[in-house]
Amino acid sequence: MSDKGSDCRFLFLGTSTSVGVPVIGCSCKTCSSDYPRDDRSRSSAFLEGPWGKILIDSGPDLRQQALRENLTVVDAVLYTHEHLDHVTGFDELRAFCWRRETPLPLYGSPDTLAGLERMYPWAFPLEDHQPGYVRPDPRPVEDAFRFNNLKITPIEVQHGRVRTHGFRFDHPTIGSLAYIPDVKIIPQSSLDLLEDLDVLIIDALRHEEHHTHMTVAESLDAIATLKPKRSFLTHLGHELGWQETNEALPPQVSLAYDGLSLTF
Ligand SMILES: [Zn+2]
Ligand SMILES: [Zn+2]
Ligand SMILES: [Zn+2]
Repeated sequence: MSDKGSDCRFLFLGTSTSVGVPVIGCSCKTCSSDYPRDDRSRSSAFLEGPWGKILIDSGPDLRQQALRENLTVVDAVLYTHEHLDHVTGFDELRAFCWRRETPLPLYGSPDTLAGLERMYPWAFPLEDHQPGYVRPDPRPVEDAFRFNNLKITPIEVQHGRVRTHGFRFDHPTIGSLAYIPDVKIIPQSSLDLLEDLDVLIIDALRHEEHHTHMTVAESLDAIATLKPKRSFLTHLGHELGWQETNEALPPQVSLAYDGLSLTF
């Protein structure tokens, strides 16, 4: 992993929990902070390399994220789950579809893709596509698959009562990287799929207990169990000021922030 100058990168488009930071109407220390890393859009990421350009989730801030990072091409979208903070930018995918000859592959669990179809029914008559709409190519996945030469393994986790997926990516240029933005409990069968990671990116909402998200301490426990070489915490609430929280983390663990790019 290097700091700059590569076509192969994992880019944090957004690193906040569902409401964003600052929170509407909140005057807490983080929400009123001028520090840029305390300004967080909804969780989403972009992974590009020799396999192409993959967007992970299409949250409500997708338009601003794409403009900020000058994203012009998306070759596929991976969905972690159908919670609104991960899907409601779906309609912004139009701009990427206009520049494609073929429908846009959307990968996710059968449940997640069925949820997208329920929410955006006008985009899904695949045989009778309306010009200008998102043109999806739904690809339900539950087991490891390949997108070009990138191996992608869905990692099933518990997120309160909802079953969601993180993803593990394996490729010679990036080694192995896993992204799990919404998780409370990682079952043993999924812990087994997360061995020998170079990079782990995982949910850490706040310090206080929460029924659907890991606390910082729970994330650090998962990191201690899995022993990745490097870890980043994401899906952060306004309870976590960036500087003081990051300073208190162990070596090899950092808070993510919007615009952080890991290059390989
Ligand atoms: Zn979320
Ligand atoms: Zn606040
Ligand atoms: Zn969620």
